Amino acid sequence: MTPEILGMAGRRDAAVLIVDDAPENLAALRKLMVEQGYQAFVATSGERALKIARRVQPDLILLDVVMPGLDGFDTCRQLKGNPATARIPVIFMSARTGTDDVVAGFDLGAVDYIGKPLRMAEVCARVRTQLQIRVNVESQEEQAERLRTIVNNMAEGLLIIEADGRIQFTNPACDKYLGYQENALAGSHISDLLNPLVAQEYLEYFSRYASAPGAAHHHGTREVIIRHRNGSSVCMDLTLTPMYLRQPLFIGLLHDITHHKQSEDALQRAAMVDPLTKIANRRHFDNFLEKEWQRAMRSGQPLSLVVLDVDHFKLYNDTLGHPAGDACLQQVAQAIASHAMRTTDLAARYGGEEFVLLFAETPCDAACLLAEAIRAHIEALQIPHPRSTTSAWLTVSIGVATILPHQLDNTESLFVAADRAMYVAKEGGRNQVRCSNTGSAALDAVKALMAG
Ligand code: GH3
Ligand code: MG
Ligand code: MG
Repeated sequence: MTPEILGMAGRRDAAVLIVDDAPENLAALRKLMVEQGYQAFVATSGERALKIARRVQPDLILLDVVMPGLDGFDTCRQLKGNPATARIPVIFMSARTGTDDVVAGFDLGAVDYIGKPLRMAEVCARVRTQLQIRVNVESQEEQAERLRTIVNNMAEGLLIIEADGRIQFTNPACDKYLGYQENALAGSHISDLLNPLVAQEYLEYFSRYASAPGAAHHHGTREVIIRHRNGSSVCMDLTLTPMYLRQPLFIGLLHDITHHKQSEDALQRAAMVDPLTKIANRRHFDNFLEKEWQRAMRSGQPLSLVVLDVDHFKLYNDTLGHPAGDACLQQVAQAIASHAMRTTDLAARYGGEEFVLLFAETPCDAACLLAEAIRAHIEALQIPHPRSTTSAWLTVSIGVATILPHQLDNTESLFVAADRAMYVAKEGGRNQVRCSNTGSAALDAVKALMAG
């Protein structure tokens, strides 16, 4: 059942409390109210009226002014002074209809003042009007309360922003997301939260809307970085909707996507890393090489590729078992990666027991020295390889190729040259470094021409 239906079903007949010390007035008014379909309660004194009002919570009180004991004004004062009855509308009835009396009645919080003798049709009209107003007020209050509950408990952050960028209101979720005490953000400016360019863009949109509210579109949803109070950045989806209430306003809805982002980043990282050795994988290396290749073409700097292959690794596995082989690959990978020192260097596991290293802005002789250092490093790990015919320890064979990237070449040719050098090292007895002075078909062609 929707709340509306519940509200309708739950609504009882309006209850009117009639207060008058003259029994004949009471009887006449009660008859009138019952005829109108209202539930009528009566009291012959102010004291009695206070008690009944607290208990039955009438929707309206018709209150005689002149009564012995607690008169109508005092009764009204007490009704208004008690939170349990303060909101019940009061209509005074009195033969005292001087301006001062009427004004005093309204000043006490009465909603109307009817002169005596009573004209019954007029009483009915005034009662009906006040009851209708009360129904309207109640439904407005209910609606406001419903909205308040939603806004205070929703998981999304909500902000109300003025056209000049001043934040008028934030809900608790927004305060929490951004690390603020409740309501501490009210009065601050969106440029306190957003980077200057994004803030400027929003401000321009605000002023466009403010000058032509009819023509405005929803700003839609976009991903923004918001400054958290602790100085960190949080990633949020921000949806802005304009609203015109006497002044142009904007409702911002914040949806936290930081976790989303974090797992996205983690996935992305995972896609770049070799699970066994935790160094870069082939895909990452190929992307990296492509970027460095383009950069080297612009800068005219040489690019060196080092290819390493573990010697007699099948035999190693066969001798010591596959798990020992895995552990060995991890050790070798760490040793190799420790030689990729600059941000433009990258070590990767290219497959099986084959590793690669890229040294950007590195000429052939420097790359060969680095390769020799890696070879020596791995030999020095002294990983026992009982059945190797090359050494007592595990060793690697290394090929190096250097290129000055050119439109006529591609990364493929660099790989071919490094692989060839590596096989030369294998054939030469393993555990050694071999260099190819060029991986450039274009350069070779030029050299051949010059040699003539
Ligand atoms: P060479 O000196 O000529 O390179 O001989 P090799 O035995 O190293 O060469 P081959 O390519 O014949 O053998 C490579 C072996 O590497 C075979 C394969 O079982 C092993 N290998 C490939 N990937 C892994 C891995 O992830 N873990 C383990 N333990 N072994 C692997
Ligand atoms: Mg191999
Ligand atoms: Mg091998």
